[in-house]
Parts: sequence; C-alpha cells; structure tokens
Amino acid sequence: MKTNHKRLIKKIILGIVVFGGIGFLHILNKNNGTESHKDSLLSAKLQEIDGKIWQELGKLNITKNTLTKKSNQLQRNYLQEISVRPTRRRVKESTRQLIYETLREFDLNPEDIHVVSEEMPSPASSTEVALYINEKTFCKHSTPAQRFIIAHEIQHILNGDSLHDFVLDRVIDEKPLNPRMANKVLNTYSQLVELRADLQAATTNSEWAQRYLIATQETLEQVGDNSSSTHPKNSERLNLARTIVNQMNKQTIL
Ligand SMILES: [Zn+2]
Repeated sequence: MKTNHKRLIKKIILGIVVFGGIGFLHILNKNNGTESHKDSLLSAKLQEIDGKIWQELGKLNITKNTLTKKSNQLQRNYLQEISVRPTRRRVKESTRQLIYETLREFDLNPEDIHVVSEEMPSPASSTEVALYINEKTFCKHSTPAQRFIIAHEIQHILNGDSLHDFVLDRVIDEKPLNPRMANKVLNTYSQLVELRADLQAATTNSEWAQRYLIATQETLEQVGDNSSSTHPKNSERLNLARTIVNQMNKQTIL
C-alpha cells in the first residue's frame, strides 16, 4: 500500500518542511537493477508487469519519458508535500528495530526514512521519506510477515511509486480525459505497481520468498479476500507467493 494522495494533502496542510530531500534523491538513484540473481522466469514476470504498467499508462498517452520529465519538474512540490511533521508519533522500540534492520538489508539508511505511527486501514504505507505504520494491524502479523510488509514498502520507495502517483495525478488533471477512463487506468496501474513491489521484495532470495508466502497467508486469514480496486486480491498475491517460492526453491537445488 502506498500513501494515497488525498491523505498526503492532509499531511501537508498540517506539515512543515523539515526534510531537505537530499536523502530522497540519493534513494531514488539506488534503484538500479539488482536482478542478476533472479531466475529467468521471475525476471520475465517482472518484465511482463513492467511492460503492462507502461501499456496501461500508454492508454492515457503517458510514456516513461513524460513521467520522468514531470517527476523532475515536480520534485520540489512533492518533497514539500511529503515532509514529516516534527511532532510525529513514534512506533514502539521493537517495531522500530525491525524496520531499521530491514531498511539496512535493502541498503537504505534508516536516517533517510522517518518511521511514523499512523492510524489507517493498511498495516503500512510509505513515501520516499517516511514509513507509516499502523501498529494495531502491523503487530498482528508474525515477525517474518512484518519484515515482508516493510520490504514491500521499501520497493515502493526504491521505485519512486509515491512520487509517480503524485505526478500522475497532476499529469492527468492537465489532460482533457474522461475521468472514468482515467480512474480505470490508474486503478489497474496501482494493482500492477503493488504486484511489482511484492515480486521485487520476494525474489531477493528464498528467505524473502518464504516471508512473502507467510505474509500473504496471514493477511488472507486475518482480513479474507479483499475486493479493492487499487490492490490485487489477497488470493492472487498468495498464488504469486506460491509460484515464487517454488521457483526460488528450484533455483536453490540447482
Ligand atoms: Zn503497496
């Protein structure tokens, strides 16, 4: 789950700029292919999702080039919008520790990311400068699942998904589009972006694949099969987890 734009707007109304953005640029630059260890089937799956993402945005005449250009133009506004209030609420120490360890495992510096306690429907959400944690639901999960939930958010951070949501909202506002059509594309886009984050985190190694399986099993047990327009079904995620675990195990044996 990413922080949705409406919620972000609320945050900026309350917020003041405390973050310089240097860490943020540094983080986005880190998003270079670390896929050499992934097997070809999983790499193909990732490429397929990536292809579908651009195909979907192409329906609104939005290309990779448009998004990159607009992201550069709007980066300043975005950084202001996602800045974190100094009065933010902290998470408990054990949660903070687990999050810091996971950030370090993905080569992110915990000093670049605020960890904020937040009441919201999902257990976690993110921007490029903050992880928002709903400890009530987050702590219902086992440690491996908690780690995966954070690893999933980390992929959003590395991909710049929250920035892209911000930019897409503005690009779409500028275009004379049928709102229903635009919404449909954005929902499909969002589902694909969620699957991409799952796949990226889960294919790090077989241990992460296992954590994905545990996280999706627990989520399905706890909340059942969702029917969200912006997120894939939990059952679809569980199936993807099973495929990845099988594939990663095969790879380990070979
Ligand atoms: Zn997500």
